[in-house]
Amino acid sequence: MLSESGVRYECRIKGKFRLDDIKNTNPVAVGDQVEIETEADSIDANIIAIAPRRNYIIRRSINLSRQTHILAANMDRAFLIVTLAMPRTSLGFIDRFLITAEAYSIPVDIIFNKADLYDTEMLEKVQALQTLYEGLGYPCHILSALTEGAEITRLRTRLKGNVNLFSGHSGTGKSTLINMLDPALKLRTGGLSEAHDKGVHTTTFAEMFELSGGGFVIDSPGIKELGIVDIEKHELSHFFPEMRRLLNKCKFNNCLHLSEPKCAVREAVEKGEIAMSRYDSYLGIMSGEELEKEYE
Ligand code: GDP
Ligand code: ZN
Repeated sequence: MLSESGVRYECRIKGKFRLDDIKNTNPVAVGDQVEIETEADSIDANIIAIAPRRNYIIRRSINLSRQTHILAANMDRAFLIVTLAMPRTSLGFIDRFLITAEAYSIPVDIIFNKADLYDTEMLEKVQALQTLYEGLGYPCHILSALTEGAEITRLRTRLKGNVNLFSGHSGTGKSTLINMLDPALKLRTGGLSEAHDKGVHTTTFAEMFELSGGGFVIDSPGIKELGIVDIEKHELSHFFPEMRRLLNKCKFNNCLHLSEPKCAVREAVEKGEIAMSRYDSYLGIMSGEELEKEYE
């Protein structure tokens, strides 16, 4: 715990916390603002209260499937690190992440990393994705975490003074990028081979780092279990910005945009105004398709 006066404390939780209505395996999450009780001349402290969260990201616990686990709280922005190859991030995964972030009111930037590995065809593909997602309100960055450049400088400015969540599949270059953005951090890299070693469970807790230039980065571990939580079927389209703006144009106000007549969403898909890949993600989530299927 970092105090307002800049002192770091080792904290324990005192008493029982009942948070919101969710069953949680961890009462305190990275990014939480807490009230502590300290003792003179000691770095040990007790957490006695947790401030209401502005937002948070949740995932199901690995072993206790009915319980959830808050990964991180009070974020200003999430940065989703994706790669089109080595490893490949699917569009379905990107869309699921964006929907979850929409549901939790966290703005997202998408970082397409490992641009140095892309050939012309892949660069065209990634530029088309940039056009698509920026059109929806998600700023995109195409860059290589291995080389200093204008995009890295721009990103550094964007992180300054904020609490920033870095998320993405293991091996996409999160640690490499964080080190490039702030060389003082020296995070361990090479997550890809680690992820392939199935015997080892990576930590389920997110870690928070302070940036030399001001602000914080939360490095969240593999978010494979990050599912769509607490979203009802009839609400799902509210979390697609391009669908949200059409909702009062459907004939039926309880339209699920599946096969109902005079559906403004489906008409927009047919006219190419809504990307097919986005509508496919919508259908996938609607049919209860598991996130796991998006992995190879
Ligand atoms: P993490 O699991 O997301 O933290 O990924 P790491 O930062 O550990 O990176 C995984 C592997 O990808 C490492 O071998 C990195 O050197 C490599 N890597 C990261 N960023 C880039 C990049 O922009 N280009 C290339 N070619 N390799 C990268
Ligand atoms: Zn509709």
